[in-house]
Amino acid sequence: MGRTEPAEVACGGCTLCCRSGELILIMDDDPDYPYETQEIVAGERTFTALARRADGACVYVTDTGCAIHGHAPLTCQVFDCAALYASKTRRQRRTMAARDPSGYVAALYARGRELHRLRIGLEAKR
Ligand code: SF4
Ligand code: SF4
Repeated sequence: MGRTEPAEVACGGCTLCCRSGELILIMDDDPDYPYETQEIVAGERTFTALARRADGACVYVTDTGCAIHGHAPLTCQVFDCAALYASKTRRQRRTMAARDPSGYVAALYARGRELHRLRIGLEAKR
């Protein structure tokens, strides 16, 4: 995922991507914030990611949204589920959803599809 401007996504109270189990890596250019983190070892490399709960959800997700809104890592700020949906083929989406028994990935793509369709409709009226 590229790093550009913060995504313009009408998230509302949705927190699906925060609960989908994806690792949120902390990068050098992320905000200077005392994040709760975990180290991820991949071969000979070690990465720092936001800590996750036992169910895979980010430790900062709450029933009403992100507990550190305004300080979230850049990966969170630029994430756009509608763009993710549109960037994958149906087969890719189905394969990724099938690998996730929690159902959050399937729900994430469903939300992305909903917002993608809204976006297309709005753009067509301009
Ligand atoms: S899944 Fe989409 S709508 Fe939901 S919180 Fe993430 S970016 Fe926002
Ligand atoms: S830091 Fe906030 S926006 Fe990022 S995954 Fe956690 S709860 Fe979601």
